[in-house]
Amino acid sequence: MTSYEYLLSDIDTIKGIGNKTAKLFKKKNINTIFDLLWSLPRDFIDRENLVKINELQIGKIQTIVIDVKKYVFPRVRNLPNRVLCEDDTGKLECVFFNSYEGYIKKILPINAKVTISGKIGYYKKKYQITNPTHISSDNNSVKKIFTNYNLTDGLNEKKYYKIINDVLENIPDLKEWHRPEILNKFNNISWKDSILELHNPKNIKRKGFFLNRLIFDEIISTFLINSNIRNNIKKIKKRKKIFGLKPFNSIKKKINYKLTNDQINALEEINRDLKSDKKMFRLLQGDVGSGKTIVALIASLNVIKSSCQVGFMAPTEILAKQHYELAKKLFDKKINVALLTSKTDYKERKKILDNLNKNKINMLIGTHSLFQDKIKFFNLGLIIIDEQHKFGVKQRKKLSDKGGDDCDILVMSATPIPRTMVMTIFGDMDTSVIKNKPKNRKEIKTYSKLDTKLDEIISFVKKQINNNNQIFWVCPLIEESKKIDHQSAIQRYESLKKKFNYKVGLLHGSMEKDKKNDILLKFLNKEIDILVSTTVIEVGIDFPDANLIIIENANKFGLSQLHQLRGRVGRGYKDSYCILMFKSSLSENARKRINILKNTNDGFKISEEDMKLRGYGDLLGFKQSGIQSFRLADPVINEDLFLLAEKEIKKIELEKINIDKYLPLLKLYDRADILNDLA
Ligand code: ADP
Ligand code: MG
Repeated sequence: MTSYEYLLSDIDTIKGIGNKTAKLFKKKNINTIFDLLWSLPRDFIDRENLVKINELQIGKIQTIVIDVKKYVFPRVRNLPNRVLCEDDTGKLECVFFNSYEGYIKKILPINAKVTISGKIGYYKKKYQITNPTHISSDNNSVKKIFTNYNLTDGLNEKKYYKIINDVLENIPDLKEWHRPEILNKFNNISWKDSILELHNPKNIKRKGFFLNRLIFDEIISTFLINSNIRNNIKKIKKRKKIFGLKPFNSIKKKINYKLTNDQINALEEINRDLKSDKKMFRLLQGDVGSGKTIVALIASLNVIKSSCQVGFMAPTEILAKQHYELAKKLFDKKINVALLTSKTDYKERKKILDNLNKNKINMLIGTHSLFQDKIKFFNLGLIIIDEQHKFGVKQRKKLSDKGGDDCDILVMSATPIPRTMVMTIFGDMDTSVIKNKPKNRKEIKTYSKLDTKLDEIISFVKKQINNNNQIFWVCPLIEESKKIDHQSAIQRYESLKKKFNYKVGLLHGSMEKDKKNDILLKFLNKEIDILVSTTVIEVGIDFPDANLIIIENANKFGLSQLHQLRGRVGRGYKDSYCILMFKSSLSENARKRINILKNTNDGFKISEEDMKLRGYGDLLGFKQSGIQSFRLADPVINEDLFLLAEKEIKKIELEKINIDKYLPLLKLYDRADILNDLA
């Protein structure tokens, strides 16, 4: 066993951890010894500062020695178990929620003197501690600092402490993977010493070289994998695509606007990739409404003219259909474009698949079903994936492999994310950015309104409808219960229907897919004036006459999400509006956020502010995206370390430093799994 392998061994190999305890750890997603290292003390208790009950301070975490006097175990569900305790100065109650009587009796035996710790509460004129931390039944044991871990039910502090200490004593010395210049920036502290420092109670504030080194390790392991994937893709030799300016000019004639500089630049970057003998693996990033579709379609036509097929995947059926219709409109009649969704009937589907395989279809547009194994292209030359910022590295890589060596890949995302995030999430790809929106695009005017001003909002709504406009009305999900998730939307729908002669529609997540599509189509065809919905409104669809979006309980949404929602309107030439509704007067923080939205329509600026206010993990559900989250690193707080890692990666690439040098790092930080998978 090489030394780092010890850290990767199963938690049950630790002395004193039996099957039962191992299960408890695994429930907390602690599977290996390495995982355990990141289970950090929340706080520490200084046992030298024992206090008496009459000196307790409400709200503080304190440690006391008590005599256990009496159990009160009510036989009524939902009532907590209680234990009455005292010392020579007063009384205190220990309150237990969800704890077994046996456990309580074990840690607090009647008439024993026990040292406990916890946050001091005061209820019905009595001090109490809820779910106290049991420290020892022997108050003469050595007085020392005792760390306070975030415990799993069924594991006691003492055992946990012992296990972690045991592991810390056995941490191997690992061979340094960083270059001396880098190590120097962290005061030459080794990985092992950094971990020991991390667990040292005196470092509870977690600051210093040891922490920065560990953060840097995390970042660089991610970047190394990204760089590796990227370079491996770059090594693939492909058949160059050959095309001239003709396809571009033919489309230019059919659109009634001029491409923006950013669109032209992005197109040039894509064309250069298509024409090269290296496989393209590119992200096209641009805010909602920045005009990515037209760029993708021009690139598609170039590829088709170069005698290859194109697969274009959209996140929803309606968007697929809209892309399909646009392609039909812009492309020459001779070019065969097909649409494949779950709606396509069996016969039609069979025909499409057959023609695709015989090269009679030039471009296939569809939803994710597009890349099933059954679907065989004749010579796929370009895959485009629209609105797929939640695709993880593995999924993207799989897709790239599926197309074969000659197939270029273009991923489009409307989620403007800050650079440190791009480096982390899309570091395996090249990126093109469309920063500026088309010039004729008007700013969406954004207002905030208390929901007591509903009448004013309603009269504004009426005015818009009379001007032949349409309205989105968004209600947030109610998180507490799945059952009533859609209640707010349903209620609003009912009340608006009563108020208006206009046609009101309702859309929410638990409706069937066909029904959802149906409602959206009705809205698109203007059979509905107001569409009340939860946040399920599909991304990317053009509703040219929708010019007002009302968002209820706006403080329930993050900034980026509000910006994305707002982007549903204002895609045409009309004056458009966004009204953010609030329940009561705004907090300082909420006011700050609203002002950011009011002052800018720039998605990049907004996402950066959003990250500062909420942390990166919440940014549009990246946590759920299968992208591994960091244990310590934070793209906002540690921007300098991200930039340092970016520089270091360039150096590693330039000097062709062998990735094997970093193998323990990659293995430990669980990135090698990706590597193995990809190898
Ligand atoms: P997104 O980047 O969000 O996918 P779309 O490609 O759907 O944006 O474009 C949004 C709208 O902007 C479409 O109606 C499209 O026709 C229009 N559009 C695209 N490029 C331009 C441009 N250069 N000038 C004016 N309108 C444009
Ligand atoms: Mg789009």
